[in-house]
Amino acid sequence: MDSKHPIDLRSDTVTQPCQAMREAMAQATVGDDVLEGDPTVQKLEARVANLFGKEAALFVPSGTMANQLAIRAQTHPSEAIICHEESHVVYYETGAPAAISGVMCSLARGERGIFDTDEVDRLFRHNEAHNAPTTLLVVENTHNRGGGSVWPIDQYIRVCSYARKRGMRVHLDGARIWNAVAATGIRESEWAQHVDTISCCFSKGLGAPVGSALVGDLPVIKAARRFRKMLGGSMRQAGLIASAAAYAIENNRARLSDDHLHAHRFAEIIGASSRVRIHDGCPQTNMVYFDLVGETLSAAEMCVAFASAGVLVLPEGSKTVRAVCHLHITEEEIVSAGQAVLRTLGV
Ligand SMILES: *Cc1c(COP(=O)(O)O)cnc(C)c1O
Repeated sequence: MDSKHPIDLRSDTVTQPCQAMREAMAQATVGDDVLEGDPTVQKLEARVANLFGKEAALFVPSGTMANQLAIRAQTHPSEAIICHEESHVVYYETGAPAAISGVMCSLARGERGIFDTDEVDRLFRHNEAHNAPTTLLVVENTHNRGGGSVWPIDQYIRVCSYARKRGMRVHLDGARIWNAVAATGIRESEWAQHVDTISCCFSKGLGAPVGSALVGDLPVIKAARRFRKMLGGSMRQAGLIASAAAYAIENNRARLSDDHLHAHRFAEIIGASSRVRIHDGCPQTNMVYFDLVGETLSAAEMCVAFASAGVLVLPEGSKTVRAVCHLHITEEEIVSAGQAVLRTLGV
């Protein structure tokens, strides 16, 4: 390891397709998914729908599109949606709920991206003359800016059922739902049964090069399919990339617990420094969020220094840094990465 061959912990999206995945792609049977359909895409969609116990799934280019289609297909302009103030849909999706769906975002507060029914209650607005009626709740599991946190299942069920009882639909941003499954042993279909739609990413921990899916019952997926076309997200011989996603689902889910072990190992090593404060309750999955304590340089400047020592991590605030474990990172590498961070901090 050195600055020319760094250990890349910036994100679990930096992975390269392995040889077997590339072979699956090369051999995929494809068709025009916008005309008669692409058999490999259809097979993937059926597999994903089945995994989540829903009627249908839609293969889309990105997690952002899956989330935004969920919002577009389940709201009307001038309605409001409830989501956490640090949720991906609010924080990283370019203001799309306002631009694409014409909805307002009511922002829930809570530690690590997680909140309870009191927040839903506080933000909920009835369908009445003065209001933007609240029609959709978005929950994120695992929660990215919450440090890869997992919703406690009881609280998740309570919040989702509470929202549904009040007539809202519920969308689960499950870009990293497979990390939640690996961390808890709670299956995809169990998380899915309490919500109306789920988005999941094949290009995060599962290691596929491209693609996400939106999962739900037939009418909502039919509506999403039309909006996907509207946004330019319908793809032709998409079986080439769907085959990589299918490979990833079958081969890369079980190993996610290795990433979680590596994240723990990394946190343990760097947490020994008095200049590092690991965020409370972190790591729960494959991410380590930590603050630099008593450091005169900013997190961004320190990330440059870490890079010179051969470790790539991302600044997530003036003092906060994020490190993410993924399928290219071995036990040995995570140990050297941790030691390099310690050396750079001089402790
Ligand atoms: C990565 C991510 C997405 C989707 O991101 P894309 O880059 O658009 O695929 C959605 N939600 C969460 C929580 C994410 O971490």
